[in-house]
Amino acid sequence: MARLPLEQAYPGLVFRPRTRNWWARLTRVPPECVHLETEQAWMATLVPDTLYLRGKAAPRRKLERPEVSLCRACLLGVLWTELAAYSGRVVCFEPDAETFTQYFFVAEPDFAAAGFEPEVAAAIEQRLAALSGACSECSRPATWLWLSRQDVASLDDFGHIRAAAGRRLCAEHGVRALSGALEACAEANLFYMNVPYGESGAYVWI
Ligand SMILES: [Zn+2]
Ligand SMILES: [Zn+2]
Repeated sequence: MARLPLEQAYPGLVFRPRTRNWWARLTRVPPECVHLETEQAWMATLVPDTLYLRGKAAPRRKLERPEVSLCRACLLGVLWTELAAYSGRVVCFEPDAETFTQYFFVAEPDFAAAGFEPEVAAAIEQRLAALSGACSECSRPATWLWLSRQDVASLDDFGHIRAAAGRRLCAEHGVRALSGALEACAEANLFYMNVPYGESGAYVWI
């Protein structure tokens, strides 16, 4: 599998040397940012270009960026760059801070393969298709629909996914909402996060 070298994939981030040596590679320990040396209360495994289809890794970009473990500040830095540059439409579900262990993007054509129930997939597709108008925070066009935990408590609840008002946001305010949700968790150990790909999709949590 072709992979981008670490420095090219994550310019500006510094990784712990001991998680980059031959032993780390041999034991498949992903490189960790230097901050995880002293602060371990908040960490996330970022596998930016891989989607898991029923447990099976499915690359979503030719030259994949390597899997890394990041502190919250480093993760948010990467997400800001990625999400602000993403011009597609996103339905974003606020995660349950207490229980979520994964937070990832699935593009519309992958909904079924990723295991979404047909009614849930249809409800999200409906919201993506209807996404228009201006951001509720500024005048730019809305490309994100933010569904809070009050809007939709469970991802199985297609009735609320279909009907909840949610907040229409531009990409920048969408990223702010997503970052705010991650910042609201004092502690976290996320096993899997990726970044958006394709033309539209949903950020979901489990
Ligand atoms: Zn860090
Ligand atoms: Zn805005």
